[in-house]
Amino acid sequence: MSILKDLFAISGSKSTVDPQYASTPLAELDNPFRSANVHGHWHCHNCGDLWHPLKYNRSLHPFSKLKCTACNWSWQPDWEMTKTARPFKSTAKDPIPVPILDNELKEQVPYFTVCECGLTWRAKNLTSWWKKSSGFKKAAMSRPGADTGVLPKQSYIGFEYIKCECGAVHEASWKRFSIRKDPLYTAGNGEYLYIPDGSE
Ligand SMILES: [Zn+2]
Ligand SMILES: [Zn+2]
Repeated sequence: MSILKDLFAISGSKSTVDPQYASTPLAELDNPFRSANVHGHWHCHNCGDLWHPLKYNRSLHPFSKLKCTACNWSWQPDWEMTKTARPFKSTAKDPIPVPILDNELKEQVPYFTVCECGLTWRAKNLTSWWKKSSGFKKAAMSRPGADTGVLPKQSYIGFEYIKCECGAVHEASWKRFSIRKDPLYTAGNGEYLYIPDGSE
């Protein structure tokens, strides 16, 4: 039973792990490790069922670096994250259309990807640049409904600017995510910015 196993691990058998990092995000538990500054968790499959916190930052790196504090492995693309990071299935090239980004989300774009080294990278807002480009006009004219003059309102984001400090350059195969509010987490530090419910 994994709940008991996790609790047992916390209580002793994995004493090298800071208990703060050894929490489980299971809905059934009143998780004592959840705090206002933790917005979700990711799972290390290398060193056995450890969950690590996702802590949001208003920066280019919305969840800093996903590196296991116990075994030092970086997050791997087949390791899960809690609902805070919802897979964003697009592997499209820039610019990528998304629902309108308003207010603070224009800067703190609520989409990110993860480098091979585990560093999270926020997508860039390309809306102003793209709407002024000749490519945009061409694309707009070829859309259904273009003749009515009513075009869907969208923002545009991109990942191709990323050159990571580890030397890696962005690849479309890196997993992409949108940032959401997981009701299991209190997310109460006032800094956390996410895509509101109801928007895709
Ligand atoms: Zn690990
Ligand atoms: Zn990197």
